[in-house]
Amino acid sequence: MAMAYAMDLSPPTFFLSPTSSSSSSPLRRLSSLPISTLHRHSNRKLQILCQATAGTQPQSQSSNLSDANSKLSARSGQDRLLKVPISKVRNFSIIAHIDHGKSTLADKLLQVTGTVQNRDMKEQFLDNMDLERERGITIKLQAARMRYVYEDTPYCLNLIDTPGHVDFSYEVSRSLAACEGALLVVDASQGVEAQTLANVYLALENNLEIIPVVNKIDLPGAEPEQVLREIEEVIGLDCSKAILCSAKEGIGITEILNAIVERIPPPPETADKPFRALIFDSYYDPYRGVIVYFRVIDGKVKKGDRILFMASGKDYFADEIGVLSPNQIQVDELYAGEVGYISASIRSVADARVGDTITNFSRKAESSLPGYEEATPMVFCGLFPVDADQFPDLRDALEKLQLNDAALKFEPETSSAMGFGFRCGFLGLLHMEIVQERLEREYNLNLITTAPSVVYKVHTVNGDTTMCSNPSLLPQPGLRKSVEEPYVKIELLTPKDYIGALMELAQDRRGEFKEMKYIAENRASLLYELPLAEMVGDFFDQLKSRTKGYASMEYSVIGYRESDLIKLDILINAELVEPLSTIVHRDKAYSVGRALTQKLKELIPRQMFKVPIQACIGSKVIASEALSAIRKDVLAKCYGGDISRKKKLLKKQAAGKKRMKAIGRVDVPQEAFMAVLKLEKEVL
Ligand code: GDP
Repeated sequence: MAMAYAMDLSPPTFFLSPTSSSSSSPLRRLSSLPISTLHRHSNRKLQILCQATAGTQPQSQSSNLSDANSKLSARSGQDRLLKVPISKVRNFSIIAHIDHGKSTLADKLLQVTGTVQNRDMKEQFLDNMDLERERGITIKLQAARMRYVYEDTPYCLNLIDTPGHVDFSYEVSRSLAACEGALLVVDASQGVEAQTLANVYLALENNLEIIPVVNKIDLPGAEPEQVLREIEEVIGLDCSKAILCSAKEGIGITEILNAIVERIPPPPETADKPFRALIFDSYYDPYRGVIVYFRVIDGKVKKGDRILFMASGKDYFADEIGVLSPNQIQVDELYAGEVGYISASIRSVADARVGDTITNFSRKAESSLPGYEEATPMVFCGLFPVDADQFPDLRDALEKLQLNDAALKFEPETSSAMGFGFRCGFLGLLHMEIVQERLEREYNLNLITTAPSVVYKVHTVNGDTTMCSNPSLLPQPGLRKSVEEPYVKIELLTPKDYIGALMELAQDRRGEFKEMKYIAENRASLLYELPLAEMVGDFFDQLKSRTKGYASMEYSVIGYRESDLIKLDILINAELVEPLSTIVHRDKAYSVGRALTQKLKELIPRQMFKVPIQACIGSKVIASEALSAIRKDVLAKCYGGDISRKKKLLKKQAAGKKRMKAIGRVDVPQEAFMAVLKLEKEVL
């Protein structure tokens, strides 16, 4: 049987190109093996896997088996670079809500197909950034080419991963556009969540074949039947051929691989057309420049070709092309339907943005692929170095990060209170947190971050319209005619016990109720429209804490609407602290002012003199608090002894002041700049 499908193969046009990065790579060594050996391994692997996933072996046997399995599958997986006809290629992605098991399933697929050897398997291969693994989310997507033998015929399966956060829905839509099918993974104990719904709609828009998969059936609380009913009712997908699996236990994995081959259509055969490829990801490598991940839609690309990025208009020579398996492996050419990477000494990811079309410079495609969008930052905040000397370092660090992140925008900002810093724009709050954390971790910067703000549209009396992303720069009341703010449509999915709590939350945040429907017996979907500004901050935390973590949400921006907004200023020790200025709705101004001054009083340490804290609208003070004077004498209990002991105490006291900014004579800690986000209880 092994021979039969070995004969089916098209000739091995390449294993690895001679320029492959590492001469000692096992793949390179493998290329000297005769093909028949490789295929025999594939066949053995398949048989063993079928047994292994049937789950019938006793424990001791199965561990032996998995050892044997890992060796064989590892070797057989390495022949995945053999070319297969385009009709044997399948491109798919996995749609799942956070924690429903996408990464575990992806890892299992890589393992079972021998793409990654067991011993190389880090926990969750696809989330390969530290930050991602820490938070358990996929920030940047990845791709992996797998080889799978189905009915004696080798297939090439390309898994294109999608980032799992609402901030990155554009990136999700582009990676879905690079696929013909998707696995819809739903947790058997949780059911359909808001984010799942949103991504399924994106997949349906892209005409993808969707294979429903119910994961975690090994859990005691699993209710696969109920979840299947939910998928049918809520999404309207036929679940008669849905697959029940446990990614953790390895149950149902072969069924999933078979379904990918059987049900997802192959890419159309368009290799004769001019070259067009869709970029679904890119990242900056300090040694090689930007590495672009793409799916060839039409035509083919060869190593050395001169390529053109249609949206940015930049052209480069493709120094290196290859496939992701999941590590990069060089090849000579890629055809329509295949997924791979290009390295072309590209200097910044802005030249090769996600969604852009790559074409051949000398044989240009007539039109670019649809769906490209420029990144528009939704949330802005100020970043200021605590130590003014670090300003140039901060600029360098931001420039470096921008090379890898086309969505990050920044411009210098000066404020009398904070000194020199940058106003930075982000896709959302998660994006903001990631950038902040990177700056501090990777570049050793000590930063003060101001509260995030959205972008307001201000119509002035002289007929101009300006965009304002910095509350302290909002034109004076006399100069502005009206202010518009961005609104979002938000969908909340929740168990019915928490409907009341969520309605209350949405109403407090100026939400307009749109619709409520029951998606299952005890779960409901709530639809609201509310200002983005009300969602920036602790909305998500509130959602989770009010529903004990059971609710999920999804939002999309629907445009600008006029609101009665005013600027609230904060004076500390009679000095205006611009970074604490905030734009609020007139109805909430008094309660926010009161709560904010109280919160600041808690957060700012007492000084050696009395410090008034005031909230003002224009020149009118609407709330006021005062910090009483104190001098904390850390040396008080040091009645004698060595001078070094005193020095140590003073040093400790100084270190405690590190993340503070001196505003006039008052030291203001980092938390105070975020105080406006933590007012929930007081405002209610
Ligand atoms: P992701 O956020 O969708 O990538 O989810 P992960 O793959 O990180 O999985 C989230 C959690 O669910 C992890 O703790 C996994 O170990 C666990 N998990 C994933 N699949 C299964 C499964 O089939 N059964 C059980 N019991 N747990 C699973």
